[in-house]
Amino acid sequence: IKDIQSFEGKYPKQIWSLFFVEMWERFCFYGNRGMLTVFISEILLQKIQHIGKSEAEAHANLQYGAIQAFVYAFTFIGGLFADKILGFRKSLFWGGMLMIVGSFILGFDPEKFFYFGICFIIIGTGFFKPNISTMVGQLYRSGDERRDAGFGLFYSGINIGALFGGGLCVWVGKYHSWHWAFALSGIFMIVGLVTFLLTKKQLGPIGLQPEAVAKKKNGKLYEWMVYGGSLLTIPAILAMVSNTQYTDYFMYIIGPATLIYVFYEMSKYSAAERKNLAAALVFIIFSILFWAFFEQSGGSLSLFAADNLHHKLLGINIDPNVVNNAVNSLFVISLSPIVGLLWLRMAKKKSEPNAVVKFGIGFLFLAAAFYIFYYNRFFADANGVTSLNVFAMATLVMTIAELCLSPIGLSLMTKLSPKPMQGVMMGMWFLASAYGQYAAGILGAGMAATKEGGTLTEKLISYTTGYKQLAIYALIAAVLLLAISPIVRKLM
Ligand code: GLN
Repeated sequence: IKDIQSFEGKYPKQIWSLFFVEMWERFCFYGNRGMLTVFISEILLQKIQHIGKSEAEAHANLQYGAIQAFVYAFTFIGGLFADKILGFRKSLFWGGMLMIVGSFILGFDPEKFFYFGICFIIIGTGFFKPNISTMVGQLYRSGDERRDAGFGLFYSGINIGALFGGGLCVWVGKYHSWHWAFALSGIFMIVGLVTFLLTKKQLGPIGLQPEAVAKKKNGKLYEWMVYGGSLLTIPAILAMVSNTQYTDYFMYIIGPATLIYVFYEMSKYSAAERKNLAAALVFIIFSILFWAFFEQSGGSLSLFAADNLHHKLLGINIDPNVVNNAVNSLFVISLSPIVGLLWLRMAKKKSEPNAVVKFGIGFLFLAAAFYIFYYNRFFADANGVTSLNVFAMATLVMTIAELCLSPIGLSLMTKLSPKPMQGVMMGMWFLASAYGQYAAGILGAGMAATKEGGTLTEKLISYTTGYKQLAIYALIAAVLLLAISPIVRKLM
């Protein structure tokens, strides 16, 4: 383990294994995700159920939000069972297998088995996603200043997968065959799991089963109970995810229940560890707000892009939705090494901002981004169509915000949690994303409340007014974070 946590170089060399495995998993995940709204709206609702276009689109958005909320909510369960029984590696492998099965079910007959396949992807991502991130954290000793930069690198891998997986699968689905598009994402996941099998040796003892379980005679039995139990939950998830009203009930219950559980676990630890965990919860709560705003990009901003933007970026003809879908990942890939190196350089000079301040800066950039989304209304022509350049610029600023918060949050969860709780806390971090997604849909629906048959200028005004409000709330959050930073720092 000493060798793995060596202090040589900017990154521990084992990080590359996790980088590539996660990259392929995100190929699969974003491949499937990119297809959801279009497939639900065009095929399941319009073609099969003969529902009208606008009603189908509205329903598809809700359904998409529900699926996303479930996907991220299951990370808590995946993290919990990794901590208690499976260990991170077995969890990751089981999750990956379920994702492959889910993608192939969708590939086999997406019209008949859509929600059934989605259930496998929900549970699979729950077992996979939090646990690979936790393993990245375990490559670092406590106090290692390179941790945030390492997560920055890992985050680039995520976005390479998101960019190409999302782009390729949606293209294959729309223009060739939905069957092949879903199957393709399963093939990406196979590549990811094979990469993991080939490189896991490098990880030494990281991510092995918890010792207490591995040594027990009935350890294997527990393990199989987790596998079997996760499959047995499929009918319940199937019922809940295909009816968005049940998703509401699920969201009302899962957050408070997990919080009670975390408080109960916290009581077993020392005062210092409890303080660290309390600080982690503060970061988690702010991240809900962050994702609620940020995730407008998949919701209201993409509806805005569809109607209210010119098809020209820096003089080149291009579809605004393609820009909205792709530039965030492109910006992450190009900016994250720069931000990572900036943190490293500042750390060397002992001037690196602490995590609370980084979060605060993130919210400042978020406020600036939404102010630009709002300000874009002043560049509109008489038809309510406005500048794609300004829109892309706002996305760039929003990406800087993301880089000050999202990879730092992953890093913090591994830094602030005692080892036996790292999976659960990483699960909590992603559960916050589930709530963020859920709230994002509600916020977006509020902005879209223009009357049926209204003009594009009315749409422009209604959305951008919403963005101005979000800018103000983000600014308040930034000020609040900077104000409480001495208290949170004391906890850490
Ligand atoms: N885009 C990042 C990923 O896919 C962050 C997701 C999130 O935390 N909501 O991993």
